[in-house]
Amino acid sequence: MHDFEFQFGTVPNRYQDVVQRGAVLQRFYGPSFDPQIITSRTQALQASWRKRIGELTAVGWVPSPSHVSIMYARNCRPTFVMIGNQNARSCGHRHICPFCYARWVREMWLHIDPLFNAPLSLDAAEADMRVIDIPGTPSETRFFPHHLIERHHVRKIPSSLFDEPGTTHNIDLIADLFRAIGANRGNLIKRINPAGAMLFTTLEPVNSDTTRLKLHNRLLMKVPFTYEVPDDLLNGPGIRWRRVEEPTRTAVMHAITRVCAYPRGFMFGRAQVMFEVLCAKRATKFNSFQMYRSFRN
Ligand SMILES: [Zn+2]
Repeated sequence: MHDFEFQFGTVPNRYQDVVQRGAVLQRFYGPSFDPQIITSRTQALQASWRKRIGELTAVGWVPSPSHVSIMYARNCRPTFVMIGNQNARSCGHRHICPFCYARWVREMWLHIDPLFNAPLSLDAAEADMRVIDIPGTPSETRFFPHHLIERHHVRKIPSSLFDEPGTTHNIDLIADLFRAIGANRGNLIKRINPAGAMLFTTLEPVNSDTTRLKLHNRLLMKVPFTYEVPDDLLNGPGIRWRRVEEPTRTAVMHAITRVCAYPRGFMFGRAQVMFEVLCAKRATKFNSFQMYRSFRN
């Protein structure tokens, strides 16, 4: 088995295509709708991914027990552009492969998009919903009974907690971190009590002497329009948030590109640390994302 020469075709532009580009390709290269630019960026990302596989396998990463697993990963079917090769397959390593990750983002969008209802026309809405009319402003013609709230919490995990790179003790420490996150992250949902939520957690290696890893906890919630989130959950060190009062399809799509953004450290952070994260994740069977309430169905 050798490296495929992919035949790159047209660039699709449906919501489900744009959301993948926004969450992955755009994180590396910025936005573009030009098919030629998207194709060349997809090729550049493929080269980066193949280089990354080399860096990770050099420090001990084995994608899966199969002896051809590295070639499957190198030849993972690119997304963002239609591919002509009939025999191209995806490698399935969505926790690191940017193409499989992008396909996962597409699944998330397909799942979450229909959960935000189309707006009601104000004529059809109950009279008491007219409270959103503000005197002196143009009258509203549509009404969104639910808002979308995004919350992004970043925590730095200092290098001082860890031994020199390459010791198994580090993998145990990261595994403990995953276990603690898994045990506690549902508490936040209990306190906020949203109608539905998606929680997405990533640990990303950082090229810095003082910080070894960054822990991202990203939350996308559907809440009733009257809901007020407690202040202490939205304000604090490392917390960013936004409320979308008109969660149209486009607004939901943009929210998913932010909440599901590919962590750049997966590709460019220290390979040894990424390897330790992958080992700890595998050992603890940690699930990066969790759906709650109405998002579970
Ligand atoms: Zn893949």
